[in-house]
Amino acid sequence: MTDQPNNFETLDPENWEASKALMHQMVNDAFDYVKNIRDRKIWQEIPEDVLNNFNSEIPLKPSSAESVYNDLQKNVLPYPMGNVHPRFWAWYMGNGTISGVMGDFWASIINPNLGGGNHAAHKVEEQVINWIKHIVEFPKSASGLLVSGGSMANYAALAVARNVKAGYDIRTEGLKENNLVFYASTEIHSCNTKAVELLGLGTKGLKKIKTNDDYTININALKQQIQEDKANGLQPICVIGTSGTVNTGAVDNLKAIADICEAENMWFHVDGAIGAIAMLSDKIKPQLSGIERADSVALDLHKWLHMPFEAGCVVIKDKSSHKKTFSLIPEYLEKNTRGLASGDNWFSEFGLQLSRRFRALKIWMSLKEHGSERFGRMISRNVEQAYYLAELVDQHQHLEMLAPIGMDIVCFRFNPGNKELEELNALNKEIKLQLEEQAIALPGYTTLNGAYCIRCAISSHRVTNEDFDVLINEVLRIGKQLLNQ
Ligand SMILES: *Cc1c(COP(=O)(O)O)cnc(C)c1O
Repeated sequence: MTDQPNNFETLDPENWEASKALMHQMVNDAFDYVKNIRDRKIWQEIPEDVLNNFNSEIPLKPSSAESVYNDLQKNVLPYPMGNVHPRFWAWYMGNGTISGVMGDFWASIINPNLGGGNHAAHKVEEQVINWIKHIVEFPKSASGLLVSGGSMANYAALAVARNVKAGYDIRTEGLKENNLVFYASTEIHSCNTKAVELLGLGTKGLKKIKTNDDYTININALKQQIQEDKANGLQPICVIGTSGTVNTGAVDNLKAIADICEAENMWFHVDGAIGAIAMLSDKIKPQLSGIERADSVALDLHKWLHMPFEAGCVVIKDKSSHKKTFSLIPEYLEKNTRGLASGDNWFSEFGLQLSRRFRALKIWMSLKEHGSERFGRMISRNVEQAYYLAELVDQHQHLEMLAPIGMDIVCFRFNPGNKELEELNALNKEIKLQLEEQAIALPGYTTLNGAYCIRCAISSHRVTNEDFDVLINEVLRIGKQLLNQ
């Protein structure tokens, strides 16, 4: 393509060759960035003078793309979140993949809108959803939608659950009487609480059931609460089981929940943001038995499948319920029988979003390049690493585990043995902060029964056992240093 005449202004590059050269440079730099990730600081505080750059006003005039890239290199790239690094174990995140990057790149280049229409990107998303249905052993007739992440996936599923089980046309009527109840364990992720609130049921619409010692939902307590609520005129509509709680990775007894839901005619939803994708791992799959009996499952693909953010998915067994909850076709979205605006099952009829990015492409390309078995092996290795880390903890008298290992999550603390709880909590918090400030590693944290834990969610395809040797040595070093101060 030739360059545009000077007097015709567009947002295309003024000089295609120069722009291409800059992009080649970026690709070189980006691949080195990932390849040499261990050579750079996992995290560092942003200095004042760099922070000041983010206060400048909106640019009115153009700058060269080169100078913009300089700005990125100087002010953004050196201060990462850290999650691409193998020693990042905070919250629960994936590393990303290069094939995912390629997918995102092309998704932005061809830039389709996945609200609907008859074009190949739509077929790619359908295929990815079919693969995910297969992974969680849902039938071909099930439906699904790619969404930003677990929060939106849970929200969509709970909306369908509410509409199906309310027993009247809630889309038309709105909530008639606020007596619908969802159930989950006290370890449920907060996004489900937000979802139930936004569905109009209030926080009281989600009853949190106590857990067993291993942080899985107490099935007897769940049964009792449902009976009690029915006796009091409430309408139990849904149990949310979690496969991989965010605190400790606990997997609820999905079979038992499926039995209860069947007996009570309730919706069975699984929050599998962390663990559902672990169906790919021979090691974890048996623990997830019962997931195939769920009415809906929420998965995150930017967690244990390592997709670049954002990538989540909801699958719903009864496609027509899914569509009934979200489909609304005004005249400007009416379909044709031929041409671009043809085809069934536009994604905008299965969720809140109309305009949707092509997030399926990175998943499609990554799964094609690596194959699902390799992703399964990466998951299994993380599980083995969790046991390796726990073994290191058990070997040392000044370290202790604070919860059973759930899949790939290890909660432990430094405990010299002669401290009160408050002191121990402060000590471990300081250890965790020094680990990140000294750019050694980035474990997460949580509090279990009042005890502050150093929490490692091991969902990296780059991490090796030696990284955990380093972690343990450094925890002990910093711990002892703090004791001597
Ligand atoms: C991360 C997580 C979520 C929320 O998912 P996002 O992708 O962050 O929106 C929901 N449930 C569980 C169990 C999670 O771990």
